[in-house]
Amino acid sequence: MSRLSIRTRLTAWYAGALAVGLGGLAATSYWAVHRSLHAAVDAGLRGRLEGTRQFIAQQLPGHSVRQITDEFQDHLVLALGPGFSLIQVCDSTGTVLYQADLFREAGVPPPLPDALPAMPQYEEARVAGRQLRMVTTRLDVEGRRFGVRLATLTDDIELALDSLRGPVFLLAPIVLAFAWIGGYWISALALRPVDTMTGAVQQITSRSLAQRLAVPSTGDELQRLAETLNSMLDRLDAAFRQIGRFTADASHELRTPVTLIRTSAELALRKTRTLDEYRQTLTDIALDAERMSMLVEDLLTLARADQDMGALPLAPIDLSALLRTTAPEAEQRAHSCGLEFSLCLPAMPLIVFGDTSVLQRLMTILTDNACKYTPPPGRIEWCVYSSDDTATIDVRDTGIGVAPDERARIFERFYRTDAARARDSGGTGLGLSIAHSIVTQHRGSIVAEGTGARGSVFRVTLPVAARRIHPLGVSPA
Ligand code: ADP
Repeated sequence: MSRLSIRTRLTAWYAGALAVGLGGLAATSYWAVHRSLHAAVDAGLRGRLEGTRQFIAQQLPGHSVRQITDEFQDHLVLALGPGFSLIQVCDSTGTVLYQADLFREAGVPPPLPDALPAMPQYEEARVAGRQLRMVTTRLDVEGRRFGVRLATLTDDIELALDSLRGPVFLLAPIVLAFAWIGGYWISALALRPVDTMTGAVQQITSRSLAQRLAVPSTGDELQRLAETLNSMLDRLDAAFRQIGRFTADASHELRTPVTLIRTSAELALRKTRTLDEYRQTLTDIALDAERMSMLVEDLLTLARADQDMGALPLAPIDLSALLRTTAPEAEQRAHSCGLEFSLCLPAMPLIVFGDTSVLQRLMTILTDNACKYTPPPGRIEWCVYSSDDTATIDVRDTGIGVAPDERARIFERFYRTDAARARDSGGTGLGLSIAHSIVTQHRGSIVAEGTGARGSVFRVTLPVAARRIHPLGVSPA
């Protein structure tokens, strides 16, 4: 992991990119100037090569080698232009027709024509401390072959190129130093809001989750970051409040049976009681203890579900078969509450991904509720059907129903409607929360609906793993 701060890394990237850009630009400009200067020199050399060829062609007829040499001495400047004398010419026997002083003094060997290629060879050379651009070639004139070397002094050009190189090397470190300082300053400026945000987030603790970050209206990444952090704080705040509420509710619900147990025991111990009185007290205590253990069991179920969300091992199961085997127990429960029970199932298997015992628990919760909140005479009905990719289980009853504005809230932990409290059904207010968590673990949904007349429908929808039923093929139980 890099230990450098974003600020340093940004600056380094910026300076690096600038160095590469500047280097590339300087190298390209230098190369372009170098090329154009040498192209101009080469063009001059080409012209003079042609001049030399014409000069030899004019002088050749009727002149001996000696005479041609003299002509070179006398008319070279006229033939090739003023200020131009760097030339070396020899014939195929190696006789030097003309040789500039510079070449002679430096001992440059004559260009023997037979050893030269037909195409002119351009090169740079340093001769007697002078910088030259040379062309060497052979010329065939009137059936005779000559070797020619022409050169131009390029000291001035090299001087000009040097003066171009100098500032680049000198200025580059200065420009880069300014770029580094500027980049560091700009990135510090750009990252300052992030520092401010970090400071503000550090101030937020579990006790001050209501605090929010100031959102800059810049429409950029920083605004998005502040909004994202704020929405995360919203979720954390809501979760913390929910946990707090849950703990308070759980303590409150546990306090009632504990108080009742304590009071019963203390009253019984105040004086000597008859055997029947002791039996009654112990029965009361056992009932309260049972209620307490049910509550603790429910709390544990929810705590585990919260912890292992999504960890339930799901396998393909036939929902119709599952409900068919669970129905007799539900029917018995309904009858014990003085209610009728009916079941409608598809004729064919309906495969969903699920956990058999957990889905049985779901059906028990919904049926127990239907029993608790349906005064006899009444009816409970399980109905299963499928549509497209979902399997639906309806648990209907003809009971007290749930007011529309309470239908969403009854799935909250410890939430009980006033009508339910009035019935004192002995519920803990956690049954539907557990049902909701079971359905969520099965990637499904659960809603409460009205039936139009009396009663309610709890509709569980689960995704189908494989569809093997005729949509209308239902078989009554
Ligand atoms: P409880 O232990 O109170 O039954 P639940 O979580 O199972 O807790 O249900 C929450 C509330 O939803 C109940 O208190 C009741 O008000 C309402 N409720 C649940 N099932 C039914 C039903 N079949 N008919 C009417 N109200 C219901």
